[in-house]
Amino acid sequence: MTGIRQSAARLASKQPRLGDADRNLERMKGLGRIVAARDLGEDDRIEALLAFAASSLGADIAALGDFSDVYTARYTYDPSGAFVKGTVVPAADTLCHAVYLSRELVVVEDLLAHPLHATSHLPAVTGIRSYAGVPVWVGDGMKSVLAFMGREPRRHPRDEADIAFMELLAAWLGNYLRQKQQRDMLEHLALTDELTGLLNRRAAEQRLAEEFAHAKRHDEGFIVALIDLDHFKSINDRYGHAVGDEVLRAVAKLLEASLRTEDWLARWGGEEFLVFLRGVDENRALFIMERIGQKLRETPIQTGVGALRLTISTGLGYPDKDDAEIGVALAEADSSLYRAKQQGRDRVEVRAQSGGTIWLAQAVKNAVREGKVRMATQNIVDLASGEVVADEALARIQTPDGRILPAGEFIETAEGMGLMLDIDRQVVTQAMAHCSQLVSGGSKSPGFAHFVNLSPQFLARQDLVMETLTTAQNYCTQCEVEIGPVKPIVFEITERQFLNNLDSLEADLKPLLEFGFRLALDDFGSGYSSFLYLARLPISFLKIEGWMVANMRQDKKIAGIIENLAKFARDQGIITIAEWIEDAETARILREMGIDWGQGWHFGRPELV
Ligand code: GH3
Ligand code: MG
Ligand code: MG
Repeated sequence: MTGIRQSAARLASKQPRLGDADRNLERMKGLGRIVAARDLGEDDRIEALLAFAASSLGADIAALGDFSDVYTARYTYDPSGAFVKGTVVPAADTLCHAVYLSRELVVVEDLLAHPLHATSHLPAVTGIRSYAGVPVWVGDGMKSVLAFMGREPRRHPRDEADIAFMELLAAWLGNYLRQKQQRDMLEHLALTDELTGLLNRRAAEQRLAEEFAHAKRHDEGFIVALIDLDHFKSINDRYGHAVGDEVLRAVAKLLEASLRTEDWLARWGGEEFLVFLRGVDENRALFIMERIGQKLRETPIQTGVGALRLTISTGLGYPDKDDAEIGVALAEADSSLYRAKQQGRDRVEVRAQSGGTIWLAQAVKNAVREGKVRMATQNIVDLASGEVVADEALARIQTPDGRILPAGEFIETAEGMGLMLDIDRQVVTQAMAHCSQLVSGGSKSPGFAHFVNLSPQFLARQDLVMETLTTAQNYCTQCEVEIGPVKPIVFEITERQFLNNLDSLEADLKPLLEFGFRLALDDFGSGYSSFLYLARLPISFLKIEGWMVANMRQDKKIAGIIENLAKFARDQGIITIAEWIEDAETARILREMGIDWGQGWHFGRPELV
């Protein structure tokens, strides 16, 4: 910045007295350099332009300000430091006001000699003696004025070239401000919910991350509240979507009016709102949200079809000291909200106390943190011989009241809290220990395969992959039985979360494959890209998705697909495994179709190891 100001001043002072056209050509070149300078931010660029123009025009001060009820100097150039950016002055105290009202150029070369301005605020209070101001049009609006001022009366009045230059600069600044306005508007739109005018989810997520970091730094507490309208569907169904929208707008207004000034509100999803409550504890937050719930209950919402009554359910969540991200508090709010709904709606729920209802997110978090993710295994059977040839490791979590939760009940929550890495890690380690024990103890041969699920996040983490390899290496060396190049552990991957980055997946998998681990493609049949995986990755096992197995006897087409898959896989040297086999008849049909192995309740339920 200073560099540019200095060079602007140098450029102006060195200027020989050129003809009108030449002088402005030089000035244009100067402007051009500043406009094109790459290292200038938006504000710096405008200030550099003001500095250059002031020097070039022989003015001490330059200002670009605008009028609302008052005059605000948005950008200034004043090396003396007297006139600073952001200065707010009553509109009538400025000479710019005359420009604003007349929408025309005003030039006064000696204010004290001027009959109107001699006693005005500008020379009397600030000591300014000369003034020249031009209107700046931003689109169709004229609210801004570009002004150049001097502390001495001017000896040479400004000539036409000077005026032309000022006007040109005003036009350029008008354009620039217009673009900036449009950019700001787009940004605003991208962060605003159209229906309610509240922050949208994206904006709320950004802001929550900032609030979380801030609270952590300053050791402050906060609570997030998720609000969901009760039985909102019935309003849509009965009165139509337009009325539903009206209700959403009205609820947004009501919520906003009920909040303290330090809190904020966002539209979190369809008919869900999020409230951020600053610096409160659970009791205080409960009190605030109960009061809002009561207000909604008691205030009929006015709509085109008359007054409607509505209630809301609210779930509260807050981070614990050692939480690394806001996701945990949000998951807690979500499960609290779920409980509020389950317990009859129109209520606020907080963190479940121990001994009370199990709070899923908390249970998952504790189990993961304390290394208490458990492993169950389910047998996989050779359909032809009936022999158990493999097993699959499945994650389990024990809740404080002793219940064992199956993966299906907590994986989504764990994913939402960013805990999958840890879960995978704990299960992989246990599976390797289990494998080593069975082989060393002689109860299983190294040919017995152990399937373990791995999430893509895990595979993408180099350090975790390396750690896995080291652990595996240790188990292999300790093992009393010689393990060949093909290792008993098979990693199951699903296409669910990959889609875009097959290349990086291939690279992530490479060290594991080189070690001798094999790959199984899980849930095969569920998505369109599974064939792409099959084509690109060295797959050893295909696991046919459970619902296909469950439906094949009612649906000939599905049966046909399975049969063809079996043929195709056999041709490729890939072993097929059918899941969800619940009876002997299904097992028989699959065997006849050419499916190699099977898994399901018919052969045994998962059992804790
Ligand atoms: P619950 O008490 O369990 O929350 O019942 P509910 O009827 O509110 O059920 P749910 O939360 O599952 O349904 C929300 C409904 O809100 C479904 C959806 O059509 C409607 N909805 C979501 N966004 C909008 C919107 O922008 N405008 C309107 N009019 N309706 C919306
Ligand atoms: Mg609802
Ligand atoms: Mg909902």
